[in-house]
Amino acid sequence: MACSENGFFDKFGGKYVAEVLRRPLDELEVAFGEAMADESFLAELSEIQRDYIGRETPLLFAKTATEILGGAQIYIKLEGLANTGAHKINNAIGQCLLAKRMGKKRIIAETGAGQHGVATAAACAKLGLDCTVYMGEVDVRRQQPNVAAMELYGAKVHSVTSGSRTLKDAVNEAMRDWAANPDTTHYVLGSALGPAPFPDIVRTFQGVIGREVKRQSEERNLDVAALIACVGGGSNSIGFFSPFIDSDSPRLIGVEAGGVGPGVGENASRMTGNAGRDGIMQGYKSRFLLDDDGQALPTRSISAGLDYCGIGPQLAALGMSGRIEFTSALDSEALDAVKFFAKNEGVLFALESAHAGAEAIRLAPTLPKNKAIIVNMSGRGDKDVFITSPVFRPAEWLSFLHAEIDRLEGNKDIHDAERMG
Ligand SMILES: *Cc1c(COP(=O)(O)O)cnc(C)c1O
Repeated sequence: MACSENGFFDKFGGKYVAEVLRRPLDELEVAFGEAMADESFLAELSEIQRDYIGRETPLLFAKTATEILGGAQIYIKLEGLANTGAHKINNAIGQCLLAKRMGKKRIIAETGAGQHGVATAAACAKLGLDCTVYMGEVDVRRQQPNVAAMELYGAKVHSVTSGSRTLKDAVNEAMRDWAANPDTTHYVLGSALGPAPFPDIVRTFQGVIGREVKRQSEERNLDVAALIACVGGGSNSIGFFSPFIDSDSPRLIGVEAGGVGPGVGENASRMTGNAGRDGIMQGYKSRFLLDDDGQALPTRSISAGLDYCGIGPQLAALGMSGRIEFTSALDSEALDAVKFFAKNEGVLFALESAHAGAEAIRLAPTLPKNKAIIVNMSGRGDKDVFITSPVFRPAEWLSFLHAEIDRLEGNKDIHDAERMG
């Protein structure tokens, strides 16, 4: 099941959209197929992957971590070294290049926490495309550093005031824009979900992670027992896993957000918890956290990137078939993993990626020393300082914030004077 059949992965996937979106989706599917068969497109993609994203990213032997845990060798795919700090740029660059090939000069994207918005804004800046990012008003307020980054890259951030004013409303708004402007505009969807052909497109562009890992582990003759990745919508995991799906080994392990516990609203565990059920939302059929009326349940995770009620259809299907094993890590385990790999390996995991790190810490001691396990560090943790500092150093962080406010308010007169000219 390495790719979809007519947009479906077993019973999941599909293209459940309004009539107006059929044509742009069909055109996209054709254009994508043509691009992937065009040597010059692939050459341009691989040049920009090398020179702009910084590929290939290293595969690091985590020697100290391995010694401390005393079992399988732990390797870390340092995807967080990609330009902009995470794997999302792989998809953003791929889709923006595809849009250019299709003659579209305007890009739109949705974003929740802002990571996909930042990656898309950067890709548009690099490729000279006009960029509008839809973001819920609530997210705009709480994710100001990412809004600032998007604006620096020249994107317009459109604050969405409908519904709950968060990610799902941003997706609806982006779909509406695309339906109204299909000839000029491409919608860069941010994870391996949504209506077909997006799950295939996103997996293909993120597949560079898995292809590199396959080559890197073969070059070093590693006996790989398991690949471990965190799963939000599922783009870093499916890209990482993709070259291995059709074989029986290694084990493929997806780690969902366990949040603060197993109760409804306390996590984002679609596959591992007991609230996940089949549903159709935002154009695709998959496993979702839904209530009895089919409405999305609230989710919770310390990592914004895993805090989502749906999962990509291919992951759902591979979870049901047993090829991908799912587990979860609690917020507290993710925070411990951030500390563990920072201190012992000098590698700062993003909170999302730290869920995969937490599973590696649990799994390694149960396996023999001649086996290897590979963790995908989907992103680096610099972006999380606003979340980890209040947990790790609450008093110092509060005092820092007070001092910052004093500093800014103390200078208020000067700033006002500058503004008045
Ligand atoms: C967005 C994000 C994720 C989750 O998204 P997937 O589509 O599941 O990969 C994971 N890690 C990081 C660093 C992210 O920014």
